[in-house]
Amino acid sequence: MTAELIDGKAIAQALRRRIAERVHALQERGVVPTLAVVLVGEDPASQVYVRNKVAACAEVGIRSRKYEFPADVTVERLLACIDALNGDAEVDGILVQLPLPPHIDETLVLERIAVAKDVDGFHAENVGRLVQGRECFWPCTPHGVMQLLAWEGIEPQGMDAVVVGRSNIVGKPMALMLLNAGATVTVAHSRTRELAAHTRRADLLVVAVGKPEFITAEMVKPGAVVIDVGINRLPDGRLVGDVAAEVREVASRITPVPGGVGPMTIAMLLENTLLAAQRRRGTAP
Ligand code: NDP
Repeated sequence: MTAELIDGKAIAQALRRRIAERVHALQERGVVPTLAVVLVGEDPASQVYVRNKVAACAEVGIRSRKYEFPADVTVERLLACIDALNGDAEVDGILVQLPLPPHIDETLVLERIAVAKDVDGFHAENVGRLVQGRECFWPCTPHGVMQLLAWEGIEPQGMDAVVVGRSNIVGKPMALMLLNAGATVTVAHSRTRELAAHTRRADLLVVAVGKPEFITAEMVKPGAVVIDVGINRLPDGRLVGDVAAEVREVASRITPVPGGVGPMTIAMLLENTLLAAQRRRGTAP
């Protein structure tokens, strides 16, 4: 069997077109959804991410504002910026690009963001709402995975789902979303014994580990759907996922890297910003 590739790039493009139409409809009523992006320091990767996010906003008609601070900014200065953005009626979403420099307490900063503007979904209240299956902002990467599944007609209900990785930004919220969608969920991590025994049981395997080609063919159940969240840069410059190429011979469907989950993450940031704008004005569907 050779797995069918799930074309995240094409799906993200289609979603962005739909988002642009919804943004346009809001604009006709005089509302321009606005995202504030806070960037601290000179980390080149963070600068690229922020540039991509700003460009993606512009493409669908979302206005973005960039707030840049030097790496030695005080936490008080950052918190004052967040407070001002929380109180700014024009701003619908606030995103603080991570990681922050080591002298800044990330949790303190993220918790300062108004829950209604927390488009990254990292605020504890949003996470709590996700646990309870209530309305909230879903963190963008696992949100993107759920959209991919929906687009592909894959219904998690009743599936044995295994999530490898338990980070706050991917693994944990992913497990909660799948649980809320009716899957039977196992979360594996670096302390899991006999990882392969778990992964081999999965109808749906989501891998967010950050180790190149970590999941091999013998760890995958024949016919499984495999979602590879990992993005790893090899010394030769190639970009690979957490799942080895040979898994394509075992799985029924699989996301490529690049072009799978990655493009969905930014699309979901746009979706969340649009939702924030709609919710703040009571016009969310
Ligand atoms: P983290 O480093 O925060 O988490 C990695 C997780 O993998 C941890 O829970 C860790 O376990 C687990 N792990 C590490 N080694 C093993 C092992 N040997 N066996 C089983 N589990 C293991 O990473 P992130 O969640 O932030 O990201 C994961 C990957 O996804 C990265 O490659 C990242 O680049 C990519 N990513 C992609 C995005 C996209 O848009 N496509 C967005 C975000 C991330 P433990 O908790 O026990 O340490």
